[in-house]
Amino acid sequence: MMRVHIIRDEFCPLELYQNVFEKLSKSEGIIQFIHSQNEILNSNDADDMNSQQEENLSAEKIFLSFSQLYNVCNAYRKKYLIDQKDHIFLLTGANNNQNWFSNMDYHENNYFVQVTEWDLFFGPEIEHSFVICYQIMAWLLKRNIFSSEKEVMDSIHLKPIGCVMDFCQQKKDITLKIRTADLCPKCLKLIKAKDISFNFLNQIFTLWEDIRKNIIFRERADFLNFKGRIIINPVFKTLTFPDFGGIQIRLPPKQMAFYQLFMSEIDGIYFAHLDNLKERLKDYYFAITGKDGSELDNIYEYPYGVASELISKINHEMNKNLGTTLASFYRIKRNTNGPHNIIIGREYVSVV
Ligand SMILES: [Zn+2]
Repeated sequence: MMRVHIIRDEFCPLELYQNVFEKLSKSEGIIQFIHSQNEILNSNDADDMNSQQEENLSAEKIFLSFSQLYNVCNAYRKKYLIDQKDHIFLLTGANNNQNWFSNMDYHENNYFVQVTEWDLFFGPEIEHSFVICYQIMAWLLKRNIFSSEKEVMDSIHLKPIGCVMDFCQQKKDITLKIRTADLCPKCLKLIKAKDISFNFLNQIFTLWEDIRKNIIFRERADFLNFKGRIIINPVFKTLTFPDFGGIQIRLPPKQMAFYQLFMSEIDGIYFAHLDNLKERLKDYYFAITGKDGSELDNIYEYPYGVASELISKINHEMNKNLGTTLASFYRIKRNTNGPHNIIIGREYVSVV
């Protein structure tokens, strides 16, 4: 079993961290991903998780050196008495002086992956947590194939060929590497000679394949105007999109109940009529939380500031996870002088 801890610094949004961790922890094999002990696990239950915090994050660029980044990993090791053989990945919102996406400290088993600026290369349609997962798996592979940092550097391809060992001197070349999520024949031969465990390789390739499919699929879906299924799970407070690589969005209870309410009315809902739907909303809320829903009362109040805010938070999640084009089918849309509605055909919707 290979133990891999995923941690973040204060510049990495909690939500992105959670998205990355969720994808990694779903992968099966001998790599065991371990959640950061610094985080409160169910903070996503907080309905008023402030988005202001997130805005502050992107305000200015922070530059750190490689050793400053690795020091964060080492401090974590010390604090939680992490075994030296365990691997620690720091997801950082900071830039580094050398302008690398990610790197490893071979002997200390420390790594960092920069989580910001991916939109420069992948655009708003690609969820960045996929790219970050790719990077993590790529470093674990390199750590296992090569016996030193020098050996890694000796084996890189300076000219990009769509292999994990592409150096990507031009940062934009990373898109080729991730869209192929592959190894060239030369690197495959190298792996064969090293006698690496099948389970380890299988876990890496399976996750890569998911990432690759997802990225290419989204680009095509956008192009073809493709609609996919959405599965609502009130108990887990998740919306899952199985046709979009299994993307999962978690909503806090009020948002979840409110989303279900709009899903239940194909023709949409006028804010002025929310009051009439009080009982139904409370039923949804009860199924999620077991609470009677008295805290929902301000939702029905004119001028509907609370209702608007809930919708904008839900829509923000949709855009961020699905990209703006795909999200347009699932967002709660405001129609001028009309009701708010969700346009996806209800034949695509199921509740579990
Ligand atoms: Zn190669």
